Amino acid sequence: MAILDLVLYPDDPLTSVAEPFDRITSDVMDLAQDMFETMIAYEGVGLAGPQVGVSKQIMVVHEPESKPMCLINPTLILQGERIEGEEGCLSLPKIYAVVPRASRIKVKAYSPRGKKLEFEAEDFLARIIQHEYDHLQGIVFLDRIDIITREEKYQEWFEIRKKLLSEVQQG
Ligand code: ZN
Repeated sequence: MAILDLVLYPDDPLTSVAEPFDRITSDVMDLAQDMFETMIAYEGVGLAGPQVGVSKQIMVVHEPESKPMCLINPTLILQGERIEGEEGCLSLPKIYAVVPRASRIKVKAYSPRGKKLEFEAEDFLARIIQHEYDHLQGIVFLDRIDIITREEKYQEWFEIRKKLLSEVQQG
């Protein structure tokens, strides 16, 4: 088990569409374990493959009130009304924005053991899954908000990114 390095926006492969798994082998379980560990270490509630440099259709999710889960090759059907809620992202730390999302979703996916999963999710859990699903399509949460706020948030982010990277260089 290992804590993986996080990829900061807009580094590769965050803006690319992730590849589906055509076979689910034991390596996937190991990757899922590392992603869970990484998500917990960074106090996130969700993490997608591209955020740890793996351009594959995999996400881990831990909504505080539900069991942690790992979804492979997920597909979503959006239902319910669109509701606004604040989001952050481990790929753009310290940036928060209010994002509209479907309040209810139907999810089809596979577990890391290859089991078929089908379930409905609501509210915060639905929001996390939609946020992580976007990562698998090369989209981040700021792409979901109005263009004026988006430009402001990106500007704010690029300032923060500069500072973060210079801190890393200074060791
Ligand atoms: Zn994110």
